Amino acid sequence: MTESRPPGPAAEDGDVSSDWSPATLVVASGRPARAPGAPVNPPIELSSTYAVSPDDPARLGYGRADNATWEVLETALGALECGEALVFASGMAAVSAALHLIPIGGVIVVPRAPYNTSATLLRELEAGSSGAAHEVRWVDLSDADATELALVGAAAVWLESPTNPLMEVADLPRLVTSARKQGALVLCDNTFATPLQQQPITYGADVVVHSVTKYLSGHSDLLLGAVVTSPDARGRELRDRLRQHRTRHGAIAGPFEAWLALRGIRTLHVRFERACANAAFLAQRLAAHPAVCRVRYPGWGAMLAIEVVGGQAEADRVVAATRLWLGATSLGGVESLIERRRRYPAESELVPESLLRLSVGIEDAADLWADLDAALSAALR
Ligand SMILES: *Cc1c(COP(=O)(O)O)cnc(C)c1O
Repeated sequence: MTESRPPGPAAEDGDVSSDWSPATLVVASGRPARAPGAPVNPPIELSSTYAVSPDDPARLGYGRADNATWEVLETALGALECGEALVFASGMAAVSAALHLIPIGGVIVVPRAPYNTSATLLRELEAGSSGAAHEVRWVDLSDADATELALVGAAAVWLESPTNPLMEVADLPRLVTSARKQGALVLCDNTFATPLQQQPITYGADVVVHSVTKYLSGHSDLLLGAVVTSPDARGRELRDRLRQHRTRHGAIAGPFEAWLALRGIRTLHVRFERACANAAFLAQRLAAHPAVCRVRYPGWGAMLAIEVVGGQAEADRVVAATRLWLGATSLGGVESLIERRRRYPAESELVPESLLRLSVGIEDAADLWADLDAALSAALR
């Protein structure tokens, strides 16, 4: 895990130092200004409209455009991703807004198996169902040479590393540099890795997208998304467009969700450290389990996927037999979740029927292992 801030553009928040590490930023950023009697946490601003400002009469002053509770969360997310954040109603609202930045009809390079709802939107762009069709090039991002070939003439690249749920890992610094050389817009979904693991803007990405629903908020109690743009002139222009998109299309966050997400971020570093340690332990044990024929684990992070000996029925039985692991979708919460991804008709056919995706939580590692071991053994008996 990255313990200190990698070199790159510094966050420009007034309230934090640009040399603080992410472990400090998750705690210290997005706080009210220090003043005698000031609260330690920001208030939840519940207001749909605002009194006219005489200094800035053209300001909309409406809750669809601005909210102070969004802004404190944006300050924290911007500091963590080394850019400037905008919060959205959900991860998909953020993905959708980011995809709107791609020039009409331009070639898009994407992972061959992206997050499945993003894949559906990309297939819609390919089919031209909402306007001009795009050429979409589906590539194995872990094959950097093939991806670089596909980038020739591309208007944009959509990056995910690791991918979901095949856990394919891209050489992000190399691919981002190549894409920028081609003049392509670089968009990166950083939900799985979190900014504690990698900060794509420091490699040159234009826009980072998050499902804040997952690790950032961390307690499976809300849905929220964010886009973070690079702090240079190009990023500012993209940010203006994303902000307009948010105000006009209206996929805005609830102030309470934004506040809860900020509360969750305070413990991101300790949650993620523990979940990653649990995942490393489980990956090693699972690799030696007779009921498991393949473990997909990048060597870091808290997500892994296993392929169970047998097929769909055996994999379903494992999920049904767990007592501690919860059979459910989503990821990044404190509780461990297990899911057979091919239960969704929209999931890529590259994903084996017997594949189970594991979102490793922060419980005791030995308890997690005992429950999985028992479920795997019982399902194959
Ligand atoms: C969950 C997820 C999304 C969508 O986010 P929601 O908050 O569910 O809308 C996008 N990308 C990835 C990688 C995800 O895991």
